[in-house]
Amino acid sequence: MSTNHATIYDLHSHTTASDGELSPNALILRAKAADVDVLAITDHDTIAAYASIDTSILGGLTLIAGAELSTQWNKKNIHIVALNIPLTCNAFNAFIARQQQSRIERATIIAEKLAKKGFKDILPGVLAKAGKSAIGRPHFAQQLLEIGAVRSTEEAFKKYLGNGKTGDVKQTWAPLEEIVGGIRDAGGTAVLAHPLKYRLTRSKLHQLTYDFKAAGGEAIEVVSGKQDIIKSNELAKLCVQKNLLASCGSDFHQPGKSWAEVGKHSRLPEQCTPVWDRW
Ligand code: AMP
Ligand code: MN
Ligand code: MN
Ligand code: MN
Repeated sequence: MSTNHATIYDLHSHTTASDGELSPNALILRAKAADVDVLAITDHDTIAAYASIDTSILGGLTLIAGAELSTQWNKKNIHIVALNIPLTCNAFNAFIARQQQSRIERATIIAEKLAKKGFKDILPGVLAKAGKSAIGRPHFAQQLLEIGAVRSTEEAFKKYLGNGKTGDVKQTWAPLEEIVGGIRDAGGTAVLAHPLKYRLTRSKLHQLTYDFKAAGGEAIEVVSGKQDIIKSNELAKLCVQKNLLASCGSDFHQPGKSWAEVGKHSRLPEQCTPVWDRW
């Protein structure tokens, strides 16, 4: 194995346990092929991926136990990446189970709302699409595509599921303080995921990072996926200003398409203190 490079950390990625396309083992092999040294699998509101990992394939790859938790702040759906979480702790598993319950309740509400738009009885199909994976809006997008309501999953998000649309249901998610506090109480590290994806004004973004830190949050995702370097530098500034640590990740979901490739995000700007410095 080549060790002739700076350590590559990818602390945000998805598998078939939520809305990713690759199985946990396939993701690990892909990360290794991309020279990733430290990988966190961070599926939406589930840690199920970790139960199916074949540790014999890890080789020199270090796995950080993680999850991407959905929460509600200021009527927005905000994502918190939890790192170094205790996978076998009963209290933490109960915390994750509540998140899954919120996903199921939310799916029912989304289906009711879409029924009012004329798409009746789509929930059974959506549940079948999700199978054992954490049910999410991408499964609704697939079902809307299958019934011919849209021509692509992108169109499904644009018309029915994305920010501010009918299917953008937030009320089932626990408040930010509860999620960040729960991660902290479990001994994990809470990271504010992709801060620029919420389309907040500057002052709202400052308010969010303030509330996040007050709740026990420790880091912000300064580098996320294909985000351009100018934006990463802005987030680096915010990170230093708020005295928070910095994280980075691809947010990989599937090969090709619009998602970043695992391990291929840019490195953290130098002025940031990496979240792994305290590990
Ligand atoms: P959920 O976790 O159920 O709230 O769904 C959010 C997920 O949907 C994100 O993590 C993405 O994987 C996916 N997603 C969000 N916006 C889009 C979009 N415009 N096109 C395709 N997928 C999207
Ligand atoms: Mn996703
Ligand atoms: Mn996210
Ligand atoms: Mn993600």
